[in-house]
Order: sequence, then C-alpha cells, then structure tokens
Amino acid sequence: MAILLVEDDVMLARALSESLSDAGYVVDQVGHCRAALQHLQTQVYEAMLLDLGLPDGDGCHLLQQLRERGQPLPVLAISARGAIDTRVAVLDSGADDYLAKPFSVQELLLRLQSVLRRSQTAGERSLVVGKLRLHLQHGLLEQEGQRLRLTPREAEMLALLMEKPGQIITRQEIRQRLYGESASVDSNVIDVLMHGLRRKLSPGTLTTVRGVGWSLPCP
Ligand code: CA
Repeated sequence: MAILLVEDDVMLARALSESLSDAGYVVDQVGHCRAALQHLQTQVYEAMLLDLGLPDGDGCHLLQQLRERGQPLPVLAISARGAIDTRVAVLDSGADDYLAKPFSVQELLLRLQSVLRRSQTAGERSLVVGKLRLHLQHGLLEQEGQRLRLTPREAEMLALLMEKPGQIITRQEIRQRLYGESASVDSNVIDVLMHGLRRKLSPGTLTTVRGVGWSLPCP
C-alpha cells in the first residue's frame, strides 16, 4: 500500500519512513505542502500521514484544499499540538484521525491500519494499480491526479484488467464478465467498448495483444 508521508522533521521523517517500509508500506516522503500537492496530483496513495506544522503552510489548510476538491484520501494527522481544540479543528478539517507527538511506531501503525480499514469498509470497492485508482461503485477513475467517469461497462472491463495486471485478458473473459456465461454477444461489441475505454485512459495505459486481448502492464 502506498502512503504519502508529509513531515518536515528530517530525523522523524526518516524514522517513520523506515518503520512504515518495514511494515510493508511503500512510502513517499515530502517536507512541504506544495510538494505534497504535487505528489497527490501525479500519484495514487492509500493514505496520507500529515504533519501540521510545515515550512510553507499549515497541514490543516492542505487538508481543507483536498476535501474541497472532493479528494477522499484517508488522512492521519500527526502533530505536536496536543490540545483538545487542535484535535477538534484537525478532525473538522477532514482528517480521519489525529495522533499527538510523541507517539510510538506501534501506535502509529495501529491507527494507520484502522484509518485504512474504515475507509475500505465505509467506501465502496476500489482497485489501485500504479497511477490508476478505480472506484467501482461510482465508476470513478483517478488517473494521474485527474478524475473521470466511466460507464458501468467500462468500469467492469477496467476492473477485470486491474485485477490481473500484467496478464492478457481475452475478449471471451470480458464478454463473460459483462454479459454472463450464456449470452451470445458479437465480439465487435467488446472491441467497441474497449475503444471507448481506451479513449478515456492516458495513451499507453493498455497494451493490445493482437487477435487475443488486452493487458494492463504491471506498474
Ligand atoms: Ca513540522
């Protein structure tokens, strides 16, 4: 799972990055609000760990900006500001949880897990492969920071490809997924649907295996 760590304290950032990596997370670390926004526009993360006191602004403002844009990314705020009113303000800004410094790595990992778990059960099923995140229920695709809407059939086709990155998905498999086992559907229909999906994806996202099917390369 990919985590964006926004923390300007170099020693703490390094220690947290190591602990998170050891726990199996893939961590990108930045020390400024601006860099955080840039990363969020180009990468897909499962969650963000956000320090509040950053050199170029307040983490709360960054969080508000994200929430105003409708960005649902789970956020665990971390700060030395332990006062109750700070905690309330942070949660009001849209953080999913708040952890006061100093904290133990164990505590952080537990809170992070619970934030991730809540976002998964509260939200709909979503798939992440490389720079793509697909929210299946709403047919919403996040692609390099852009959000776009897919039709239900496009979303199902892409889900099939995202479930098996690096593997070739045949027309037959797509037809079964979309129309069920018994349906007789002209294979042109699948090509037309795939053409529509590809037009919405960044160039090069899908690979065509001529005469066989399509695949989404492993990130
Ligand atoms: Ca700080």
